[in-house]
Amino acid sequence: MHSLQKQRSLLFQYLRSSSNSNNIIHNSKMILSSSSSLLLASNFSSTAGKVIPCKAAVAWEAGKPLVIEDVEVAPPQAKEVRINIKYSSLCHTDLYFWESKSVGDGVSNLKPGDHVLPLFTGECGECPNCKCEDSNMCEVLRINPTREGMISDGKSRFSTIKDKEPISHFLGTSTFSQYTVVHSGSVVKINPTLPLDKACLLSCSISTGIGSILNVAKPKKGASIAIFGLGTVGLAAAEGAKIAGASRIIGIDKNPNKLEYARKFGLTDFVNPEEHERPVHEVLKEMTNGGVDRCIECTGNINALMSAMEALHDGWGVAVLVGVPSGDAVFKTNPFNFLNEKTITGTTFGNYKPKTGLPTLVDMFMNNKLELGKFITHRVPLSEINKAFDYMIKGQGLRTIIDMND
Ligand code: NAD
Ligand code: ZN
Repeated sequence: MHSLQKQRSLLFQYLRSSSNSNNIIHNSKMILSSSSSLLLASNFSSTAGKVIPCKAAVAWEAGKPLVIEDVEVAPPQAKEVRINIKYSSLCHTDLYFWESKSVGDGVSNLKPGDHVLPLFTGECGECPNCKCEDSNMCEVLRINPTREGMISDGKSRFSTIKDKEPISHFLGTSTFSQYTVVHSGSVVKINPTLPLDKACLLSCSISTGIGSILNVAKPKKGASIAIFGLGTVGLAAAEGAKIAGASRIIGIDKNPNKLEYARKFGLTDFVNPEEHERPVHEVLKEMTNGGVDRCIECTGNINALMSAMEALHDGWGVAVLVGVPSGDAVFKTNPFNFLNEKTITGTTFGNYKPKTGLPTLVDMFMNNKLELGKFITHRVPLSEINKAFDYMIKGQGLRTIIDMND
């Protein structure tokens, strides 16, 4: 990668990986000739094999506002698909990479017109991790914030129209562009009746939060669960806790405005650590007669993880790290916590195998067991994408849906 490109790289969009996004497959090398279908098939075939010009939000510099640019999106190569992004959203992880300056053959099961979700962590289906039923850590397509190009040739499929400057991909998805190219193992086909502006939330935060409970913490019915950080991920964990039949769901957040969300999402208790003289773990232990059964860390602050460990009940307590701490954070605990039979673990994407596991969440949504609309507090057009970052930085609301066509 030459230096200019490197300099500009970054996060194509930053981001987003998807977090949330939703799209329609534009075409792929293997499926161009598919009789395909759906509504948009004829439009698709007119651009097959050609470069597509479109708008994209580009992060030229870490920490600076994104710039809406006219870009070209190259046709997909082997095992890749090109997607028309309809809606996207962003997650705190986008912010993290934005601020930290890190950036980063044959498709048989997808066809033009399919509705898909891009995945920031993929599933090749072939590697030992994909073949292990307990793992979602695909060795080929797992989350990798430093990969800037496509896996096949290391090159970007994005360039500016003006000076043909390559723009890096981010997290394998780059959904802040009206069109993107992704590896076919990094998209999952979804039921076409699913509303796209809501389904995009399943690409990241909501699945992560719910999975952290149902797949990782695995509480018994009637358990007490403490959730550190009531952003979308933490509130999704609260939804998981309700599904698991928790008797007590305690939200912990230093932002007093989160009390309103704790109520709205049916948590039983809210604790603002800044309103207590004592360490928050002592407050939690007292509330739960000796310790919480499960703690889920969704703030990204390493101190919250340490508090979560302390707040656990001995003998059976489990703490789950979901938040992404800064790269130099160090977790410290007294080793007697382990001798006293407390467990600490962590998860990416709630341990869902992204392609094969996500449809279970789609079913939950379709069967009204999971409500997604309540996580959407703002909507902005692509041209105002920076507002979505402001809302997140200021802790206003939960998820902002970015209308990519607007
Ligand atoms: P968010 O910013 O919307 O929410 C975080 C909440 O934590 C905020 O309400 C904030 O007030 C609160 N908070 C921060 N520090 C705190 C502290 N010390 N004590 C109590 N509350 C505190 O973020 P989000 O989008 O919900 O994401 C949450 C975390 O999950 C982030 O770190 C994100 O990077 C991470 N994440 C991880 C995965 C994964 O696969 N593991 C996936 C998505 C997001
Ligand atoms: Zn794999």
